[in-house]
Amino acid sequence: MHELSLIANLFEIMEQKAKQKKAKKITYVKLKVGVLSGAVPELLETAFDIYKKDTIADQAKLEIEKVPLKIRCKECGTETIKSDLVLNCGKCRSTDLENLEGTELYLEKMELEIE
Ligand SMILES: [Zn+2]
Repeated sequence: MHELSLIANLFEIMEQKAKQKKAKKITYVKLKVGVLSGAVPELLETAFDIYKKDTIADQAKLEIEKVPLKIRCKECGTETIKSDLVLNCGKCRSTDLENLEGTELYLEKMELEIE
């Protein structure tokens, strides 16, 4: 499962940050997951639940925000948010596009308990 290695990386980052702040617990984690990131949110949740046991995030609540694919047309400059994966400009139908959002997976927010 691809998601398990993503979550393993995420936990490394989270534990490092928690350590820097001398936190005892991670209570809340928010991830942003792009539709083109290759990760399935439901599987990320499952992987998170498996992985968090016996870590400082064992009580953490996970929230995942799905980020739709946003593209910009290099021909006419129009920005289009795609709900499907038909990749052309919403205005002029050009396929000469650049990806703006929707390919990333990152840690948006984390709440800690510090004592
Ligand atoms: Zn266009």
